[in-house]
Amino acid sequence: MTTQEFFEALQRAHVEGSARISAAATPLELTDVRNALIGRKNGSLSQLMRELPSLPEADRREAGARANSARVAIEEELETRKVSLDADTPPQPTLDLSMPGRQSWRGAKHPVTLIIEEIEGIFRDIGFTIALGPEAELEWYNFGALNFPADHPAMDMHDTLYLGKEVLLRTHTSPVQVRTLQSYPPPIRILAPGNVYRRDFFDASHAPMFSQIEGLAVDEGVSFVDLKATLSYFANRLFGKTKTRFRPSYFPFTEPSAEMDVECQLCSGRGCSGCKGTGWMEILGSGMVHPAVLQSAGVDAERYTGWAFGMGPGRMAMLRYGIPNIRLLYDSDVRFLEQFAR
Ligand SMILES: [Zn+2]
Repeated sequence: MTTQEFFEALQRAHVEGSARISAAATPLELTDVRNALIGRKNGSLSQLMRELPSLPEADRREAGARANSARVAIEEELETRKVSLDADTPPQPTLDLSMPGRQSWRGAKHPVTLIIEEIEGIFRDIGFTIALGPEAELEWYNFGALNFPADHPAMDMHDTLYLGKEVLLRTHTSPVQVRTLQSYPPPIRILAPGNVYRRDFFDASHAPMFSQIEGLAVDEGVSFVDLKATLSYFANRLFGKTKTRFRPSYFPFTEPSAEMDVECQLCSGRGCSGCKGTGWMEILGSGMVHPAVLQSAGVDAERYTGWAFGMGPGRMAMLRYGIPNIRLLYDSDVRFLEQFAR
C-alpha cells in the first residue's frame, strides 16, 4: 500500500464511518457500529492502522498523526450520537414474565348464609314469611312464655348468658314465636332465622354463638299430619329425594314432640362413622305447640292449634356440603370459604 492509497483509505473509512454513526437508530446499533469502526480486532480503522509499519519511513509520522486524528474524530462522533440516542429512548420498564400473576379476590357467601337462604326459599315457596326478633331478650320470652317452669330441669340444658336481671342473650329463636303470636292473629306461618348464644365449650360440634332457624304454623285445625307432611317435603327439597323418620322427643314448649332424621347423606343409609352406623342423621326438633305457650301469648288454645320446629343451619350446612368440623364455619379461612364461591 502506497502512502497515497493509505490516505485515501483513511478518508473513505472516516466518511463511511460518519455515515454509519448517523444512521444508527438505537444504542445497540451504535455499539455494533463502534465495533465495526474502531473495534480492537476487526474495526476498519484499527485494521488500517496496522498498515502503518509498511509505509515508507518518511511518511509514517504524518500518516500516524492523520490516522490518530481520524480515530479521535470518530470517537467524538460516536459519543455525540450516543448522548442524542439516550435522550430519545425512554427508559424501558423491566418486565419479569416469570412472575406469578396477581389474582383479584372473589367474594363468596358463607356456607351458613347459603344454607339459610336456601331454607328460607323452600319455606317461602309454601307460604311462610320471615320473622325477626331481638338477640338481647327478656327472660320471660326466652323461658317463661315457652312453658319452662322456673325450676324445670330443661333450664339446665341452656347454660345462659345473662346481661342483667331478667335480661339475657336469647338461647334459641323461640322468643320470636311468642312475639309474633302476640302481634298478629292466626293464621300464622313464619320462619325465624337468627343468632343464639349459649355458654358452651368451643369444640368440634359446639360454639358459644351460632345460628338457628325456627318455624311456626298456627291455624284452626292444624295437626301433626301437617307437621310431618311439611317437614318431609322440606327435607326432600333440601337434600333431594330422601327417606325421613320421626322419633318421640321432649321439649317444654311442644307436646307431643318429635325429632326428625333424614337418611345419612354420607352413606345413603348403609351406616358409616358419620352416622355412627345407624344410617340416619338428626336434622331438627319439632312438635305440636304446647297449649300453655299459645295461652301465654294470648292465643285461644281451644280454637287454634299449631306446630313448630327448630334446626341449626350450621349442622344443615355440614350435612349438605360434607363439612367435617363446625370450627371451619367460624375460622374465616379464605381457602375454605372460597370453595363456596359460585
Ligand atoms: Zn352414614
